[in-house]
Amino acid sequence: EKQVSSLNPIQWYPGHMAKAKRQVTEKMSMIDVVIELTDARLPESARNPMVDEMTRQRPKILVLNKSDLADQAKTQQWIHYYESQGIAAIAVDSRGPQSAQKIVSACQAIMKEKRERQLKKGRRPQSIRALIVGIPNVGKSTLINMLARKKVAKTGNRPGITTAQQWIKTKSDVDLLDTPGILWPKFEDPEVGYRLALTGGIKDDILDFQEVALYGLSFFSQAYPDALKDRYKLDELAEEPFALLEQIGEKRGCMQKGGFVDTEKAAELFLREVRGGQLCRLTLEAPGLHKQEPIADTLG
Ligand code: GDP
Repeated sequence: EKQVSSLNPIQWYPGHMAKAKRQVTEKMSMIDVVIELTDARLPESARNPMVDEMTRQRPKILVLNKSDLADQAKTQQWIHYYESQGIAAIAVDSRGPQSAQKIVSACQAIMKEKRERQLKKGRRPQSIRALIVGIPNVGKSTLINMLARKKVAKTGNRPGITTAQQWIKTKSDVDLLDTPGILWPKFEDPEVGYRLALTGGIKDDILDFQEVALYGLSFFSQAYPDALKDRYKLDELAEEPFALLEQIGEKRGCMQKGGFVDTEKAAELFLREVRGGQLCRLTLEAPGLHKQEPIADTLG
């Protein structure tokens, strides 16, 4: 039986994470700033909990991506929350036209003092060297493409760097080091797994759609009941998530032989529409409420 709760052993190998950690840590000396992407709909669950530790040598910008799909007021709450923690945070839709400029400006702001010091020493300011990190599917490639839109070339080594590193030179003020190994989210907490699954942050082939849809339906009934009513033209929402799934299936013609609702099909339809932002903009977690998870001390 495929279940969210059974995912953790598949993706979170201590050895695997230790390797990713090494790869990220090694890159710190080559860059000026870390751009960490997360998903605005679930800003804490969509982060790899070890990134802070891996990148603490360098200033960081936390980018709440896919903000076009998130609840705007809640995104603002998150930005204030991170700022109160001393973390520079911005919200973007990395596919939008403003995203690249917003990120370049944030990088410039965070590098301002250092650049002024360099200027005083008579050193010509160089392009800002950045590393983009984030869990799979959070939007790294999309953002890289936006930043590199007027890309000049992919260059090889920089002087003084011995290991072969790919730099993506952009016409903007920010050059990008190619992204390191895969930084999985960590979802020992089933809540975190469900949130990621609901928003498309976990590969579908290891998901039980129905289980995730039921989680989503109970969340929507509480947080966004009107969005459910509007989308599926329901006057009353059934109280039980499974009955609600049947209501949706019926409305959408997800039927099987004998006049029964094909709840598997209904679940897939519902998930697709949630992920595509077709119900409403949604945020699954609020600042301060997210349970912090212990980071395995077994990782060297
Ligand atoms: P990566 O695995 O981190 O490189 O993620 P991708 O750049 O491949 O993006 C994963 C999916 O999210 C793609 O289907 C993108 O089109 C989509 N995506 C990325 N950024 C945004 C965004 O800001 N808003 C929305 N709605 N979708 C996005």
